[in-house]
Amino acid sequence: MPPERGQRLIIATHNVGKLAEFALLLAPHGLNCVASGALNLPEPAETAPDFAGNAQIKAIAAARATGDWALADDSGLSVSAMGGAPGVRSARFAIEAGGYPQALANIIAATRVTDHAAFVCAICLAAPSGDTATYLGFCHGTIAAAPRGSGGFGYDPIFIPTGSALTFGEMDKSTKAAISHRGRALRQVLAALFPSDPLERYAFSLTL
Ligand code: IMP
Repeated sequence: MPPERGQRLIIATHNVGKLAEFALLLAPHGLNCVASGALNLPEPAETAPDFAGNAQIKAIAAARATGDWALADDSGLSVSAMGGAPGVRSARFAIEAGGYPQALANIIAATRVTDHAAFVCAICLAAPSGDTATYLGFCHGTIAAAPRGSGGFGYDPIFIPTGSALTFGEMDKSTKAAISHRGRALRQVLAALFPSDPLERYAFSLTL
């Protein structure tokens, strides 16, 4: 039995950037979303080698700890010229660089503006029983010659999605949500949960 409208759904992330993007896309569907940070839930170690495995670890931990349904995302930026790095290590790559400004500079130094890059997002929906369903979303693009824009979070200022002149950092939230890896994965979750919801509730799908 999927979560019903009004029932609690834990958003298992302590990342405020991700949380804002989840809130934007989930709001029209009437779910009662609670962030795991607000419940002081511990963050489990992300020990899986891939995005889907780490999303499952985080969602199952939150569902088991609360007895509620839980959603978790594991995501990152994969750069072809870096052999797919930083990938699942995207958050750690920034810590090891001493912060995002240096991490962005390191990626720019390793790439040409024509090289392929992609944001990847796995979202896992976990039931209180521990059963899971996992969905993937991708957004392909290139790396900018210099960071641009102050919107979004993380690697947004250097990522130019295919077909756009703007970086994610220069886009407003709904424009990013329409084409982003997270938006694409989350719309699959919502379509599985609420297949008969009217299209207006998927407003950010309309430009796809
Ligand atoms: P996670 O919490 O282990 O999934 O770490 C994901 C990391 O990937 C984030 O901390 C960011 O560095 C990066 N990332 C994932 N999605 C995005 C995005 O939409 N924009 C910018 N950076 C992102």
